[in-house]
Amino acid sequence: MTKEQNKTYDVIIVGGGHNGLVCAGYLAKAGKNVVVLEAEKQVGGAATTAELSYGKKVSHCAHFLNQLNQKVSKDLNLSKHGLKLSASKLATIALSADGNHLHLTKDSATGGGISEEDATNYKQFMALMHDYAGTLGFLLDIPPMDVFNMDWDDKKAALKLGWKLRFGLGAEKMSELLRMIGMNIRDVLDDEFDNELLKGALAFDAVLGTHTGPYSAGNFLTFLYRLAGGNNGSVDIPEGGMGAVSSAMAAAAIANGTEIRTNARVKSIDVDNCAVTGVTLESGEVLIAPIVVSNAHLQTTVLDMVGARHFEADFVKRATDIRTRGAAAKMHIALKDVPEFNGLSKDDLKNRLVISPGQQELERAFNHIKYGEVSTEPMMEISIPSLVDASLAENGHVLSATVQYAPYNLKGGWTDQAKAAFLETCIDRLGQFAPNIRALIEHAELITPKDMEDEFGLVGGNWHHGELTLDQMLMLRPVPEASRYALPLDGMYICGAGAHPGGGVMGAAGRNAANAILKGDQ
Ligand SMILES: Cc1cc2nc3c(=O)[nH]c(=O)nc-3n(C[C@H](O)[C@H](O)[C@H](O)COP(=O)(O)OP(=O)(O)OC[C@H]3O[C@@H](n4cnc5c(N)ncnc54)[C@H](O)[C@@H]3O)c2cc1C
Repeated sequence: MTKEQNKTYDVIIVGGGHNGLVCAGYLAKAGKNVVVLEAEKQVGGAATTAELSYGKKVSHCAHFLNQLNQKVSKDLNLSKHGLKLSASKLATIALSADGNHLHLTKDSATGGGISEEDATNYKQFMALMHDYAGTLGFLLDIPPMDVFNMDWDDKKAALKLGWKLRFGLGAEKMSELLRMIGMNIRDVLDDEFDNELLKGALAFDAVLGTHTGPYSAGNFLTFLYRLAGGNNGSVDIPEGGMGAVSSAMAAAAIANGTEIRTNARVKSIDVDNCAVTGVTLESGEVLIAPIVVSNAHLQTTVLDMVGARHFEADFVKRATDIRTRGAAAKMHIALKDVPEFNGLSKDDLKNRLVISPGQQELERAFNHIKYGEVSTEPMMEISIPSLVDASLAENGHVLSATVQYAPYNLKGGWTDQAKAAFLETCIDRLGQFAPNIRALIEHAELITPKDMEDEFGLVGGNWHHGELTLDQMLMLRPVPEASRYALPLDGMYICGAGAHPGGGVMGAAGRNAANAILKGDQ
C-alpha cells in the first residue's frame, strides 16, 4: 500500500486499556477522527473479564471499582453505555483467625474486639481522611502544575490548592496534613489506634498494589490516594466484572465516532523530522496521524515503539530509571459452592474481605520480597462476586484474591513448580479462615507479576505502570519531561496509568491527556 492509500486519522491511540478508551471518548466527542489500536483480542487491558472455567468468569486483574472518576462517568455517560453495579458501598471485613472479625464501613468499626475509644477514633479519623482526600482530590483531575513556568491554569490551580488547604481545611487540619503527608502509614496508625486488626486492615489499603510495607516511607499518601480517586471511598462491583467498565467506555468512544481495532499490535510509532507521523502495525500496515497517544508504559513507548534515538539521552535515562516493581499476584478459584468462613454469614461474604491481621504481620509478609521470595503467610483482598452477580457463574461460585506479596524477580524464576507451590500457600492461607475451601475447589489459578508483564504489558508487574511513590507522583510522574502528557517529540503523548494521576480504574489519566491534546499542549 502506498502512503497515499494508508488510512489517515487526527489521532491514533496505541492501546485500548480503559485509559486509552476514555481518552478516545473525549477526543472523538470533541470532533476528532480517532482510532484505538489494541494488541489483544479484547479491549480493557488490566480491566477485563475473562473465562476462568466452563460457565465461570472473573475480573482478570482489577476487581473492585473504587476510584472511577465521576466526571468521566458523567461526561461519557457510562450508565447509558451499559455500566451497572451489582453491589456498591461494600464494607471491608478484616478477618481474624479466631472468627471475631472487624467490620468497617466508611464511618463505623464494629467487632474484632475493638474498644469504644478506637471505634470513636476510627469515625473521626476516616472523616478527617475524607476531608483531606476531598481537599487534594481535584489535583487528580488536572495536569500537574508546571511550577517553573506557570500558565494561567496552573496559577488558578495553585490558588485553589492554597485556598482549599488554608480556608477549606482550616489552620489546624492543614498543619496536621502537612505533618502527616510524608509519613509511613504505620506511624500514622500507631498514633491513632490500639486495635491491631484495625491497623492491619487500614495499613493494607496503603500498600495494596505497591512495592511497600507499612513501615516504608511516604505511604500515608498512597492511603489518601485510594480515597481521593473519585468514588468517594465507595467500594463497588460492576455487573459482568471489570470488563463491563471497559466495554461501557468502548461503547461511549464508538458512539462518539471512534474506530476501535483489536488484534492490532503496534510495532513502531513512526517519526520523521522530529515529529510523529503515525504507526506501523505488526502486520505491516501503516496508519497516518499527526498525533499518537500511547496507553502503554512509558518504557515500552519510548524504548520499544518510538526508539530511544528520537529523544535526548537524559530523558531516555530517566524513563529507563522509573521504578516499576510489582508485588501482588492474583488468585482465581472456581468453586462448587459458597465456602464457609468461620464467623461470617453468606451475606457477609458479599463484602470485601481482607486478610491482614496486623501491621507487623504485614511488614513481615513484605520482608520476603526484598530477597526475591514469596510471603509464607500472604495477605489478601478477597471477593466472591458471583454472590452479587449470578452472570459470573452459571453454577457454583468464583472467588478472586489479590495476594501480597509476590516478587516479580522470584529467586530461581517463576517456574511452573514455583507457581504451583505459591498457589498452594495461598489456598492454605485461605483455609485458615474458610476450612472447607479445598473440598469445594474445581479449578484454581495464579497470575504472578511476571505473568502480568507477559500477558498485560505491565512492565515489572506493576499495576500503576510505575510505582506510586512521592518521588514518582504529580510533576515527577512518570518523569518530569512527560508529566503533562506530551513527550518531548512533536505529536507524541501518553495517557495511561504511568501518567498523572496513576493507576486504578479511574480514567483520570485518559481524560487529562485528552484535555491536554485538545488544548494543544506540547
Ligand atoms: C492484579 C491487579 C489487581 C488490580 N486491582 C484493582 C482493583 O481492584 N481496582 C482498581 O481500581 N484497580 C486495580 N488494579 C489496577 C488497574 O487495573 C490498572 O491500574 C488499570 O487498569 C490501568 O489501566 P490503563 O488503561 O492505564 O493501562 P492498561 O490496562 O495496562 O492498558 C494498556 C493497554 O495497552 C495495550 N498495549 C500495550 N502495548 C501495545 C501495543 N504495542 N499495541 C497495541 N496495544 C498495546 C495493552 O494490551 C493494554 O490493553 C489492579 C491491577 C492488577 C494488575
